[in-house]
Formats: sequence, structure tokens, C-alpha cells
Amino acid sequence: MGVLALGSGSELLPTPDFSRVKRYIAGIRPYRRGRFRLELESIGNKLLLHNYGHGGAGVTLSWGCAEEAVGMLRAEVPPPAEVAVLGAGVMGMSTAMVLMEQGYRVKIYTEKFTPDTTSDVAGAQWSPALVNRGPQRRFERIMRKSHRRFARLAEQDYGVTLKANYATRGHGTHLDQIPDGLLAPMERVARLPFAGPAKAGRLYHTFHIEPPIYLPSLLADLYFRGVETEERRFEDARELVALPERAVVNCLGYGARRVFGDEQLQPIRGQLVLLEPQKLPYLLSHRGYIFPRKDGVVLGGSVERGVFVAETDERTCQGIIRKNERFFGL
Ligand SMILES: Cc1cc2nc3c(=O)[nH]c(=O)nc-3n(C[C@H](O)[C@H](O)[C@H](O)COP(=O)(O)OP(=O)(O)OC[C@H]3O[C@@H](n4cnc5c(N)ncnc54)[C@H](O)[C@@H]3O)c2cc1C
Repeated sequence: MGVLALGSGSELLPTPDFSRVKRYIAGIRPYRRGRFRLELESIGNKLLLHNYGHGGAGVTLSWGCAEEAVGMLRAEVPPPAEVAVLGAGVMGMSTAMVLMEQGYRVKIYTEKFTPDTTSDVAGAQWSPALVNRGPQRRFERIMRKSHRRFARLAEQDYGVTLKANYATRGHGTHLDQIPDGLLAPMERVARLPFAGPAKAGRLYHTFHIEPPIYLPSLLADLYFRGVETEERRFEDARELVALPERAVVNCLGYGARRVFGDEQLQPIRGQLVLLEPQKLPYLLSHRGYIFPRKDGVVLGGSVERGVFVAETDERTCQGIIRKNERFFGL
């Protein structure tokens, strides 16, 4: 770990223009007490595999969980069986993709598709934030599998980029939970290269995934591979018994609370402010965060435990803007 002495006046990185607000956004992180659920069970004549409850890290864990889930299923129902995937957020689409790569025939049943899922609300940084990770060895295996996929996608036109993330002391610490050897080592920075009061911090490098590019690309790839889809809302797990597929993968995110009665699933609302697009060559984590994307600059993010209504409020979003302005001494 090195110590960088960045931040003399001439090296300052640009300050965002916080007056250019595009819109406010909110979503419910599907946080699960104990651990996220990756588990097999039987329901009637079906084999049911759960893959949900990834809190603020669903994008990060998506590929690893998808590969892990398909590995569990394969031992019971080998390809080319027909599999129903419930949900078309990042978890449902990644799982469907891995299933199809392995020769399964897949049909996705879902109420909503991109751009109307929680996954579309994510920032999305590759980091295991706000999630109960479960056993460490399994978590590391999942992170390594996810990393391999995102590294490959970063070489394509998929909205995945390796970026620098500057973090003030005590923030962005979930980045320290990423297993060793996957990303460049974190460096301490004596003075972060931003206008405003001098602050020491850290420099990480991680993937930034842009959902408005990433999720439609994933869906287009699934259609290209021949996935079937049906728009459908489930009210109760008993409805699954009537599906024609022998195996079902549950990727309903927070929706699993109602359909499967899982009260371990606790909502954590996140509100974000989207500024008009600006050229800012960094991610920043402090009391809030700044993730510049092609569709705009994301300012995040509230952490509102127990709130299950995905709506924004003016006061919280103005607070997010003020917090970021203060960081830059505005
Ligand atoms: C503000 C915010 C910021 C975030 N930032 C990050 C980040 O930086 N990095 C990161 O990795 N993660 C981040 N996340 C977390 C991430 O968005 C979630 O963990 C992830 O989207 C969960 O994916 P999912 O596919 O399980 O659920 P969802 O995206 O919610 O998808 C669930 C799917 O199931 C369908 N469905 C639900 N109920 C029913 C039903 N009853 N019948 C039929 N269909 C149903 C939905 O329509 C949808 O298609 C963030 C989340 C929020 C809210």
C-alpha cells in the first residue's frame, strides 16, 4: 500500500455543477437479515431455487450468485431442462444468461423489465455494500466469479468501466471487503484532489456499472439467445405449481417478501439525485457519493431502513445535494 501526495491546487479534479438537477430517483434495496438467500427447496412437484436478498450489492454479486445458483440446480436438474426464472432485475437476467449458456431452455416470468426494476436504480459501483454476506468462503467465491465476468464485460460495450474511487476516511469501507488480488491495492492519499477543505483519504479502483446501458444490453443478449418472456405478477408461491417448467429460480428481489412470506427481507430505501451529464473522471465516496455516468451524475444515497415505498422526497434529496456541495466547500 503506497501513500499518494495528491492535491496541490493545479492537480484538483473538477467540481460538479450541483445546480443542474435532472431528476430524483428512489429504490428499495432488498436487504435480508442473516444472509442473502441462495437455497434449494421443493414446492409441490417443482424444484425451487431462491436467489434474492442482496441488499445494496445485487449488481456486484449478480454473476457470482447466478453461477453458484446454476451449479446447485444442475446437480438436481441437468440441461437441457426447461427452467422458469421469476424476475427480470439484474439477478434474474444474470441467472437466465448462465442457464442458457449451459444449455437450459429458459422462460422469464416477471411483472416488470428494465428500466422499471430496482436494478435500474442502482448507482452502481462494484462493491459489497449493505449486504449480509454469509459464510466468508462462499462470499469470496461469489465475488471472484462476479469479478471475472465484469472484467470481461469491461472490454466490451456493456457500460462497465474500471474507475478510480476517492474515499474520505471511514467511507467506502465496504470496498475493503473485496477479496485480495481482484482489484489494484488501495492507496492512502494525504490530501484528496478536490476543492474545499483539505481531507485525507484513500484511492480505490473498482468497476462502475451503468444500469441504463448494462441492463438493456443484458436483456438484448438474452433475446438474442432465444429467451422466452412473459409479463406476469405473482401473488402467492402456490401459483408456481401450475407453471409448466420443472425447475423455478426465484429472483424476485424485495418482491420475494410478499410472494414467499419471507420476513427476513427488510426494505432499505435509497434516494438518489441525478444531475445532468458532466465530465468528471472519478467516483467519490464521502458522507454521500458521486458516480458520474453517461446519463447523468448520480449523487447518493440515503439509507432509510424499514421504508418500503420507492418514492422520493424533496427534503432528503435537497439534503443529498447540500452534503455534496459542502464537501467541495460550496
Ligand atoms: C439507491 C440504490 C443504490 C444502489 N447501488 C448499488 C451499487 O452501487 N452496487 C450494487 O451492487 N448494488 C446497488 N444497489 C442494489 C441493487 O440495486 C439490488 O441489490 C439489485 O437491484 C437487486 O436485484 P434483483 O434482481 O434481486 O431485484 P430487482 O431489480 O428488484 O428485480 C426483481 C424483479 O422481480 C420482479 N418482481 C418482483 N415482485 C414480483 C411479483 N410479485 N410478480 C412478478 N414479478 C415480480 C420485478 O418486476 C423485477 O423484474 C442499489 C440499490 C439502490 C436502491
